[in-house]
Amino acid sequence: MYRELMFLAKNNIVIKNTIGHKDFFELPTDHHHHLVCTNCNAIKKVVIGRHLHKQEKQLEKENGFVIKSHSIEFYGLCRDCRTE
Ligand SMILES: [Zn+2]
Ligand SMILES: [Zn+2]
Repeated sequence: MYRELMFLAKNNIVIKNTIGHKDFFELPTDHHHHLVCTNCNAIKKVVIGRHLHKQEKQLEKENGFVIKSHSIEFYGLCRDCRTE
């Protein structure tokens, strides 16, 4: 299973993402970001606003760089791990 996924990742059919010590495989069309709990390692998918992707275009322009993908993780404590 893992090897097949690595093959797909190499061919850009799926995106390999490493969060903490875990590898994740996601479809390129399924674009989202992650909230990662540093206490229980829970990972939640989140979609964030368009301005970030606008910024990406700006970075491409300023740096003459073609960005193919990005991965953004926000680290912190989830609802269950927050202490009141
Ligand atoms: Zn994004
Ligand atoms: Zn947690």
